[in-house]
Amino acid sequence: MDSFDPASIVVRGGHFIGGEYVDDDAARIDVARPSDGVVYASVPIADAAMIDRAVENAWTAYRTSGWPGMAPRERARILRRLADLVAADAGTLAPLEALGSTRPVRDAFAWDVPYTAEGIRFYAEFADKLGGEVIATSHDHLGMTIAEPYGVIGAIAPWNFPLVMASWKIAPALAAGNAVVLKPSEMTPFSVLRLAELAVEAGVPKGIFNVVQGDGRTTGDALVRHPRIGKVTFTGSTKTGAAIMAACAQTGTKPVTLELGGKSPQLVFADAPRLDDVARRIAGAIAGNAGQVCNAGSRLIVERSVADDLTARIRRIFAELTPGTTWTPGTTLPPIISEPQAARIEAIVERTVASGAHLQCGGTRADGRAPGAFYSPTILSNVTAQSEAVREEVFGPVLTVQTFDTEEEALALAQHPDYGLAAGVHTADIGRALRLVRGIEAGTVWVNRYGRTSDFMIPTGGYKRSGIGKDLGRQAYEANLRFKSVLIDLQS
Ligand code: NAD
Repeated sequence: MDSFDPASIVVRGGHFIGGEYVDDDAARIDVARPSDGVVYASVPIADAAMIDRAVENAWTAYRTSGWPGMAPRERARILRRLADLVAADAGTLAPLEALGSTRPVRDAFAWDVPYTAEGIRFYAEFADKLGGEVIATSHDHLGMTIAEPYGVIGAIAPWNFPLVMASWKIAPALAAGNAVVLKPSEMTPFSVLRLAELAVEAGVPKGIFNVVQGDGRTTGDALVRHPRIGKVTFTGSTKTGAAIMAACAQTGTKPVTLELGGKSPQLVFADAPRLDDVARRIAGAIAGNAGQVCNAGSRLIVERSVADDLTARIRRIFAELTPGTTWTPGTTLPPIISEPQAARIEAIVERTVASGAHLQCGGTRADGRAPGAFYSPTILSNVTAQSEAVREEVFGPVLTVQTFDTEEEALALAQHPDYGLAAGVHTADIGRALRLVRGIEAGTVWVNRYGRTSDFMIPTGGYKRSGIGKDLGRQAYEANLRFKSVLIDLQS
């Protein structure tokens, strides 16, 4: 499917607590379609009392449903069934995801929904694979660690890939035996409700996976501060991550996983093989989802001798992109999530140009054949490390270009004072690639590629202000467990 009629999609709102939809007469937030700005639904804002209801419900389910204590193989079986149900539900989930987000429906079908299903399947397989360990002690003792869930995990997700980002939080948490209360972004609140419905259908006990709706200030803050929350896992901006970390420290020194913002460099050396392929990777890494990707490759750092050639090729690829609504066939440049976010992108580009940058292309709104907010893929050269578009996470299709003559210069330009989420190195010289892998301060470095594969074992997470801890991989599973040490005296 690469198109649908937006008016044909029926959304179900409210919170999902204890396996049921719950609503009240609380204040509500309007929810708009990014593609055309039309308000199509609203969600209630869960206040502290509603959060207390959700978390206590989850805690009761955790203690009484048998979820943490059941045979791990059985928990794995239920989660595999959830993965199967998600994959089979693509006909509902993909248009629902596309309607309210920036994900073109064709991409939601081809990637978001199957990738969500596969991520759940991946973590299901951990449920009976990792326990504690027996520790080497003298033979008059037996020492061991026992892996135990935290209880109720508070999970907070962003709007840019609503289903996938939520699945990275809930799948390892559930597989490890926890209950979860998830707050999606108030801009993309609906597709995860369908995920919660499917979890109940798969056999996850009611109350083990709950969804609460609302904004960050009221709902998100109340969730992370609730005393029964054992751990918080968050994906979103660095600013919000810092506020959440402070709230966790103030309310029980709760552990946190924080997946935050980035300003990721892509280094291209003149020896990089197949410059056309490199150009495609660079363009894809900044124009994909209209740049609204945490690890968007937003800073091109290129050897001077190939800079003009490479940027000309990238401009040609940008020119091929077709802006359009998420339900129009052939859309390859989706909308910006909201008008204020598009205005922010526009203002950063304008100020960077005013400070001396050269606008190589873009710098304007794009015509998306709908009144939504579309922004043209933009290239800014003649910038410095102090330029606003180089320093700040733009979260739009804006690529800055800096040039270098030596490897040392390239490395120095790659380091960002704040962020360290990801980086790309394009070169034919393996020694140089490995020196840069060691040298670049980032949680992920890709060599001669940019972006993830479907190898869920490769963890993702940032250095510096890009975050704490990892999503994906074994690390994310273990981060949903705490380890109890046991020492038994065998003499008595
Ligand atoms: P955001 O920080 O504005 O919001 C994220 C979530 O936090 C939303 O659900 C929001 O309601 C909630 N929230 C806001 N204030 C809160 C508070 N005080 N307490 C608790 N919750 C609060 O981020 P966004 O605009 O939704 O997402 C874009 C950001 O997410 C970008 O910075 C991007 O880089 C980052 N991101 C990072 C990753 C990663 O893996 N590192 C992945 C995707 C997105």
